[in-house]
Parts: sequence; C-alpha cells; structure tokens
Amino acid sequence: MDNSSSHNLHVVMLSSPEAGHVVPVVALANRLAEQHHVRSTVLLVTTGAPSESKLMNPPRERGLVETIWLPPVDISNLVDPSTKMMTLMCLMMREAVPVVRSAIAAMDRLPDALIVVYFGTDSLQIASEFNMPKFILCTSTAWFLAMSVYFPILDEQMKGPFIDESGHLKIPGCKPVRHEDAVDMMMDRDDQQYHEYLRIGRGLSLSDGILVNTCEDLEAKTLQAFTENDAMNSVCKSPVYPIGPLTRPVESTGFQSDLMDWLDKQPNHSVLFVSFGSGGVLSAEQTLELACGLELSQQRFVWVIRPPKKGHVNDALFPDNIEGTEDDYLPEGFLNRTKNIGILVPTWGQQVEILAHPATGGFMSHCGWNSTLESIVSGVPIIAWPLYAEQRMNATFLVEELGVAVRPEVLPTKKVVGREEIEKMVRTLMEHKDGQGMRDRMMQLKTRATNGLNEGGSSHASMRKILSIIEAKKNATN
Ligand code: UDP
Repeated sequence: MDNSSSHNLHVVMLSSPEAGHVVPVVALANRLAEQHHVRSTVLLVTTGAPSESKLMNPPRERGLVETIWLPPVDISNLVDPSTKMMTLMCLMMREAVPVVRSAIAAMDRLPDALIVVYFGTDSLQIASEFNMPKFILCTSTAWFLAMSVYFPILDEQMKGPFIDESGHLKIPGCKPVRHEDAVDMMMDRDDQQYHEYLRIGRGLSLSDGILVNTCEDLEAKTLQAFTENDAMNSVCKSPVYPIGPLTRPVESTGFQSDLMDWLDKQPNHSVLFVSFGSGGVLSAEQTLELACGLELSQQRFVWVIRPPKKGHVNDALFPDNIEGTEDDYLPEGFLNRTKNIGILVPTWGQQVEILAHPATGGFMSHCGWNSTLESIVSGVPIIAWPLYAEQRMNATFLVEELGVAVRPEVLPTKKVVGREEIEKMVRTLMEHKDGQGMRDRMMQLKTRATNGLNEGGSSHASMRKILSIIEAKKNATN
C-alpha cells in the first residue's frame, strides 16, 4: 500500500470519553497506521467536565493518527442525579451526532470508513449519509458481544421486571452467563440503562462489521458461534472480526520515575500491582480490609489508591468519597509498617508500564477488559475483583476458561472481602505453585495472543479483511 498520506485509506473513529473506550480506539488507530499505513482521525466526544481530561488520558497517537476533541455536548436537561453512568454515556453519544456530522463534513477529504465504539451506534447513520462503510468496535470480549446482541431475545423471554435470578442466561453457542455475572444494565427493566442497553443490542447489527478486541487464542469457541450457530446468526447480522489484543503500548518516558526506580530494585515477579481501573472505588470498610490483607500477606505491592466511598458499596467513581489523606482511611501505622514492601500511588498510575515491569508478578484488578488485556500481554496473572459493568463476566472467563486468575468466594460487590481471604489469595498468586501455574499459562497466552497480531496471524488477517471491504467500496465509488 502507498505510504503517502493523500493516497492512504482514511478512517474516522468515534470514541466516548471513557478511558475504557479511548484506549482501544487510539490503539486501533496506531495499529492501522503502523501495520497498514492507514490514516485515522479519532473523534472524542466530550462533556466539558473538569475531570474529563484525566479520565480520558488518551494514549499517545503516532504518525498518521490525528485526535480531535469535539465541542462539549450538553445533556444537563436530560439527566438528574440518579442517572446511571451507562445512560449518561449513551445520551452523550446520541446528542453528539450533529457535532460528529459537522466534524466529518468539514474534513478536507471525506473519509473512507467510519468506526464507532458500541455506545455510538446512533452515529452510524452519518456513514450512510456520506456513503461510506460503517463498523462498530466492541471494546470488550466476544462473549459480552454475544450477550449484548442476544439481549433483545432474552428481553422477549423475560416475564417480570428483573432477569430470572435462578440459573444461567443461555446464549446460543456460548458459555452460559451466571445470573450474578450479568451486566448491571440488564438487571432492572424500570431503569433507563436497561432500555439503552437494548438499543445497543439492536444497533449492533446495523453495521457492515463488528470489530472485537479479542482474538482466536482467547475466545475460539465464542467466535465460532458467530460464524456457525444459526440462532446467533439470526440475531447478529453483521460479520464479526476479532482484531485484538489492542492495548496501549509501553511508553519509555513521562511516568512516575521514583516508582520505576523502586520497581527496578525488586526481584522479578515479586510485586503485586493493585488497581481498580479508571473509576473503581472501594468502600471504607473494604479499603481497610484490603490494607490489612496486603500487610498480612507480607508480599511487595504497588497500590493505586483512591479515597474510599462513604458507606458500604464497592462501586464506581462518584463524588461522595471520604475526604482527607491516606492516614485518614488506612489502618493506623500501616504506612510506616509497610514502607519497605509497599508503594501507594494516589488516584492514577501508569498501569501499562507497571504491568510490563519485570518485578510485577501479579495484578489485583477490577477486570475491565483493557486492564485484562494489558495483564495478558505482560504475562501477569490476576486476582479478579470485579466491580461493575461486564467485569463479573470477565472475571469468570479468566478463572474458569483461561485458568489465569483467582477470585474471592463471594463477589466483592455482594460482601466485603475479609483480610484473611485477601491474604490467602495474594499468597496463592505470589508464592504458591498454583500461582506459578497461572503465570506460566499467562506467558503462553501472551505469546499466542501477540503473535496473532503479526503478519500471518489471525487478528492481522481479520484486519486485512476489513481493509479490503473499505478499499473495495472506495474503488467502486471513485
Ligand atoms: N488506567 C491507567 N491507570 C490507572 C487506572 C486505569 O492507566 O490508574 C488505564 C488502564 O491501563 C486501562 C484503562 O485505564 O487502559 C481502564 O480501562 P478498563 O477497560 O480496564 O477499565 P475501566 O476503567 O474502563 O472500567
């Protein structure tokens, strides 16, 4: 393919402001530039909230990639304090359609394709208006995609306001989903986010293809359901392309150097990294138990710490956090007693760099899919601590399908995980042969998954198929 940008294919990508979407979108843009010489313009929907630039924290773009921060959309007249995060995201993406259209119309050369994150299906109509092929990027697993696309059928089967609390949700050709692992959005028919999720499920088939941030080596059976299962094919009309793992690359500059200096001095695989994603916040009681559990385990740790929530809920970032410094919510004397084995990183850490460091040997994670993939490509096994969205499915997948994680007996959203159980999980992962077995399996996965991205690999081939569809359409219209 020609390397000069005027002849390159040009793709526009649309992301929500969530870190979990921005990261894979920019990673896809960088991958298209580096491996396929495709030019990308990333459109970021914004709200103008002061915390946004921190949350979005977009990875660095390279070469043929340009990022445009769209003018903020105002959804204040559509929401109230009880509106859930998922609903906020969907409303924001829907209200952004006019600014997305204007941004595309203003481009000096019209793009050759539009790729939107799955919250952005309302913008697919713009691709039709400009006569270009349109794709959806699913930033989670193929298993989550299967459940989302099949959700309208589950909805028809459902009798009351809540999904059936007994047994499992059956998804054609896929591992059934335990009721307690189902995504929050499915839980209550009376909540707006339920209907937003239904809308997403229906919108997924409106595209020319769905790109999924997964690969054959991770989810062969589920991916097969999209090609071979008749019941699945009758609801998912768009072809599915596994193109992952798309992850943020390790940066060699600009990170917390004191932390890196400390990690450099620790033995290989000896440090547990503790972090709950861009928005995970624990309750005050859980934060205390976690600190005590880490201390009891006597393992080295790096903990991205946030002020806990008031009350008992382990959840996502909301403004009712306890104010004050770590001294106000950690056990008395904790900082002093753990100063030789642990480092606290307030609020936000350079996760990819920490996971890639040879000293890191385990990851206590909320199991957001980006964090999960970042752990896989670093070969680091996991203590699965799911909090919200589809993280409970991811945790089950890591434990039951891949065998690379341990998890608490009861979900951390249902019950505070006690210090003894935390100590046991940490020791299992960091000291025991079971943990070593998980590390070995992670290393094998890392090799297979990253090989798939190279020329001749399955994810590389999927990406080539998508690009040939775009090229064919471009040639037909020129
Ligand atoms: N992240 C980070 N530092 C932090 C917290 C999160 O760099 O302290 C990044 C993380 O590496 C990942 C993204 O933010 O790329 C979070 O995405 P994920 O899908 O794991 O979870 P979410 O935050 O969307 O629930």
